[in-house]
Amino acid sequence: MSNQRIVVFGSIVQDLVSYTERFPRPGESVRGTLFKAGAGGKGANQAVAAARLGANVAMIGMVGEDMFGDTNIKSLSENGVDASGVVRTNKTHTATATITVNKEAENSIVVTLGANLEMCAEVADRHHELIETSRMVICQGEIDEKGNRRAFEIAKKHGVTTFLNPAPGDANMDKSILEIVDIICTNENEAEFITGIAQNSVEDAEKAARAMLQMGPRHAIVTLGSKGVLLATKDVDGVEHIRVDKVEALDTTGAGDCFCGSLAALLVAGHPISQSVRSAANLAALSVTRQGTQSSYWKIDEIREKHPQFLP
Ligand code: ADP
Repeated sequence: MSNQRIVVFGSIVQDLVSYTERFPRPGESVRGTLFKAGAGGKGANQAVAAARLGANVAMIGMVGEDMFGDTNIKSLSENGVDASGVVRTNKTHTATATITVNKEAENSIVVTLGANLEMCAEVADRHHELIETSRMVICQGEIDEKGNRRAFEIAKKHGVTTFLNPAPGDANMDKSILEIVDIICTNENEAEFITGIAQNSVEDAEKAARAMLQMGPRHAIVTLGSKGVLLATKDVDGVEHIRVDKVEALDTTGAGDCFCGSLAALLVAGHPISQSVRSAANLAALSVTRQGTQSSYWKIDEIREKHPQFLP
């Protein structure tokens, strides 16, 4: 047993990324400048981001009995994530994300969830021991929401911290899950889906962070892209706006996942929330200076060497 362990109960997706000058219009075919295939999925990305910071991370996820299943399990293991909780199914395929990145470094994504939709409550039950003996469980919005709920129910019974990143955001999401969430982290879109507060400014995001606190969590975090992050904490006045150093953005894909995984690793290592959010925001900013998703996440040794000021 390791009570320092983070368990990610979440999605595994094969990323297929095309880089192009501009997005195609409907019916149009544009020429790409570069193609890269990579291991991805919000769950796996967050697991890798945390493991690269030196955290003890285990993944509970599902893949198909196909080539992408093999490569995604291998990638988790190579990144130091315990993948023994990744289950293979012959019912469907490993999930895929077809991602297009334009020259402004914006992305447009189609996700076909495949095996991730098999991540139901029964899978959480099957892995209850791994969840119960961890320090924190992280879930996202790319799997069956009943699976997330069960993972959090098991966690709460055993005093395990629950961290929800409801990405990519679904207006029909059952918001009552927030009653058993300790830390909620959203971007502006997801904040709008959850609170119904239209997001057009930092002030709107502050209102959403406060509204999310009323729904259950102890900490509500809203990421704001290049504008940094907002942190609201129960019984603490005001919403803290944590800014990030300006960087040359090359590819913002997976920045939110880098933030969530890094934040989890820093919190489990015992750093205070505000310091951890600041560091995670700067580490996510570093990730957008590199192309790719998991491949853009910096490793602890490299951060210590080149940007030690970004560590708490
Ligand atoms: P998501 O990828 O989920 O939409 P955001 O775009 O809000 O999330 O990015 C998450 C975090 O990544 C931000 O809070 C910030 O720390 C960092 N980040 C993202 N885009 C940029 C950028 N252009 N410049 C600097 N940091 C960025």
